[in-house]
Amino acid sequence: MNELTEFDFSKEIDQKAFLGIKEEFPVKAGDMVKSAEAQAWKEHLLKYALENYQEYLYPDPKISPKTQESRDNFVFAMKNFTEKQNQLISDHYEHGVSSEMIDEIMEKLNVRDDQVPTDEEELNKFITRIVLKDLSYQVAFNEREHKKTAFEGFEDDKDFRDVEGIIKKAFSGKLLSRCLTSRVSYNPNEVNVEISGNDFYLPLEKYKDWKAKMPSVADYKYRGESFSSWNADLDHRVSDIYASYPIYIYSFEGEDLAHYEYLKGLPGKEKMRIYKIGTVCHELGHSIYDYLMGREKRSKWEELINMVGYLTHYSKNYASGVCSEKLNYKEEFAEAVRLKTTRPDYLKKSFPDIFEYLDSEFPELKAI
Ligand SMILES: [Zn+2]
Repeated sequence: MNELTEFDFSKEIDQKAFLGIKEEFPVKAGDMVKSAEAQAWKEHLLKYALENYQEYLYPDPKISPKTQESRDNFVFAMKNFTEKQNQLISDHYEHGVSSEMIDEIMEKLNVRDDQVPTDEEELNKFITRIVLKDLSYQVAFNEREHKKTAFEGFEDDKDFRDVEGIIKKAFSGKLLSRCLTSRVSYNPNEVNVEISGNDFYLPLEKYKDWKAKMPSVADYKYRGESFSSWNADLDHRVSDIYASYPIYIYSFEGEDLAHYEYLKGLPGKEKMRIYKIGTVCHELGHSIYDYLMGREKRSKWEELINMVGYLTHYSKNYASGVCSEKLNYKEEFAEAVRLKTTRPDYLKKSFPDIFEYLDSEFPELKAI
């Protein structure tokens, strides 16, 4: 039994580490088509963008308002948590922290062996950090249970009619709270283009002009952006605590859905609706993976994905673009959540083991 007093819980969390938020964290839902042809255009596209759309480029020299909002959430949560932390610790760990509890937290937070310091003093600091991190999840979750996840900007899009009701039904209020999403914000008049780490947020009309001149820019357009991974970081790069975060959905202009196997058989108009709702489900799927998939669940998941390979055209492209053809288990999971909620029959028929896995691990996930 390791006693609580061995750890210095009274010290404030390292705010400096927290302020070191980096911009490369957002996880995106987009096609990363990088064929040889697209690759060749990439430099040209970026050059053109830097010459013509500099004012829409973030974060340099400005900080994207999206990033800023996420930062603000973290600052608020950090303050809130720091004020409460001593009380929380005495409530939760009154009798010390047993090695079983530490093992449990390590499993939950996906701590890798190489992240655990061997030096005793460093180890104690590390344990303090992960115990606090684990506690902060409860705080963030409790807060979300009292505040609804807001859905904004969907009013004028028929495809998103009653999106809030639909997502609540698909995820359940509880699971949605566990995702820690403060709001899902849709801007159909904004296009997010990212080329080699340069993030452009363009007005739709500007994007259309660009695409008319250079159609391959469509390969760098993203539909969704989530900051959920900021919470999952254990390397001091973002934050030592969990905080609510927003999801952004951008324009679906010009989407070609023809190569999506799972949409086949749906009436034309329904295809786009299912695809759009599915994009929100995909982003929420990232949070489930980041917060609710401990080491054991992940290793089973990886095994399953190794057997079946890519689940969708999107995850295949993502892998070829971002991970040099390697399977990306996170993206596959987000796509699995998309399919389980929006095309469950397709998932059951095409990937029965994946369907079964989600059904048993997250029975809350229902068809929309
Ligand atoms: Zn994704």
